[in-house]
Amino acid sequence: MNQATLILIKPDGLKKSLTGNILTRLSESKLEIVGAKIVRASKELAEAHYAHLKDKPFFPELIRYIQGEIHNRKKVMALVYWGEDAILKCRQLAGTTNPEEAESTSIRGAYGRITTSGLFENVVHVSANAADAEREIKLWFKPQEIIVKLYPTQEIINEQKKAIVWA
Ligand code: UDP
Ligand code: MG
Repeated sequence: MNQATLILIKPDGLKKSLTGNILTRLSESKLEIVGAKIVRASKELAEAHYAHLKDKPFFPELIRYIQGEIHNRKKVMALVYWGEDAILKCRQLAGTTNPEEAESTSIRGAYGRITTSGLFENVVHVSANAADAEREIKLWFKPQEIIVKLYPTQEIINEQKKAIVWA
């Protein structure tokens, strides 16, 4: 079954110049990239993305991490991969959440670490299941930023909205 999944190259991945390595590893999946951009995550976006962890003691540090406050790289690279069994394939290439437990050949196993405060700096986010993938893709991407139609859309007329366009 064709699926879409959200990948984020987290600020530690960018700081360690791992973008090329990570994209090369993900290309083993033979999936298609259907959306890609650099994003400076707002606190609201970060908190919405990690809403399921809001009661964890590491939540405030996790928000600072994904916003790039810890690595002085205030951006992530956001990608949508699409194709047969995309969710499982990307999770397998990424490895488990704890980088010390992840297979050493996986992205997180090869490049992740645990900080002295206990945070898992695991260089990538990869959607865990279909429900997460849909929720996360809709959080990070607008419909017109993805080159295939993944989910139902609607047209709205919003003439009052201020917009920045090329001069
Ligand atoms: N995390 C952490 N310690 C934990 C669990 C999670 O530092 O005990 C961080 C880690 O960076 C992880 C993120 O919180 O990637 C989101 O956690 P989740 O359980 O959703 O794992 P994931 O889906 O990223 O594998
Ligand atoms: Mg998760």
